[in-house]
Amino acid sequence: MSGGLTDHHVHFMAAAATLLSVDVSAAADLASLVATIAGGAPPQGWVRAWGYEEWRLAEQRHPHRDDLDRAVPGRPVVLHHRSGHAAVLNTSALAEAGIPDHPDGLLVDRHDLLERVPRLAARALRQAAAATSARWESAGVSAFVDATHTNGRPEIELLAEWVASGVIRQDVTAMVGVTHIADLPGHGASVGRVGVGHAKIMPAPDDPDRLARQVGQAHRLGFPVAVHVVDIDVLDSLLGALEASPPPPGRTDRIEHNSLCLPEQVERIAASGALVVVNPSFLVHRQAKYRAELTEVERAWLIRMGSLRRAGVGLRAGSDAPVVDCHPQEMMRAARAHPFAPAESLSAAEAESLLAPAPGPARRR
Ligand SMILES: [Zn+2]
Repeated sequence: MSGGLTDHHVHFMAAAATLLSVDVSAAADLASLVATIAGGAPPQGWVRAWGYEEWRLAEQRHPHRDDLDRAVPGRPVVLHHRSGHAAVLNTSALAEAGIPDHPDGLLVDRHDLLERVPRLAARALRQAAAATSARWESAGVSAFVDATHTNGRPEIELLAEWVASGVIRQDVTAMVGVTHIADLPGHGASVGRVGVGHAKIMPAPDDPDRLARQVGQAHRLGFPVAVHVVDIDVLDSLLGALEASPPPPGRTDRIEHNSLCLPEQVERIAASGALVVVNPSFLVHRQAKYRAELTEVERAWLIRMGSLRRAGVGLRAGSDAPVVDCHPQEMMRAARAHPFAPAESLSAAEAESLLAPAPGPARRR
């Protein structure tokens, strides 16, 4: 497929899994969230739900284990946050996961514990994958980059099997969790027809040394890095790490999200040569949160596009699906009309280029 649009940052498996989960994203408070789960639960087995954001709920807090106990008494419930970075287990689910004494059931970035939740049935997941890919195709998306930080060899092999069998209709590049890169052929090689992408790093906010080590280690193994950056301090640590360790020859590092960026960091990003992959649709879907939580000055530093472009930084965009639906037209519209900083808006042609294939050498097929 060619000539279509590329969504440069998605989580394909998570997007497919939402089709097999109760969607609670419309719930305005905990009572309606509980009622939505109760009404949508399958007749037996684990109940999977998805899509809450604590800041959208009237109570302004994450649901707790006892809230979910009220939804489906005696059945295990796992409720995923829309961001993918948190999940809540109820009492029965905590018992099955071997952590019955957990105080509130809220697990933040605990993929190690969530692995104890039984996997979705392979056939159901495959159908959901096909439906997801078909929907994205009808939105004009002919290629995507899976940016999931837990990707290793098995996850990429499953994507490759789905591409080979026509379940996935897009060209797929899959990033690799930085701790798994040694298990894969090099960056730019392929597993089946899936391109091996960047080494994905989720930095701990308080551990710049670890970030620098991981960047250096990936570069030594020939992988450029793609680093999750949603705050100014992490961006600062990353820029330090990139200044100390340039990418392998002919490769381009990536900065994912780059939600907030100080004026003086714009030039440092340009000097690093990294590509910035932004999420313009967040300006639509999280606008209320940004208004409530950021000062006017900070909102001018939010999701920069125009200033990065003027500084010569390469820019691309992703939906971060399922955090926001894969919707290229909405992404381009949002990029043309930054609600807080007009100087960060792009022209129509620039907005369209956000979804062009990544710059740099074509990957080997
Ligand atoms: Zn993401």
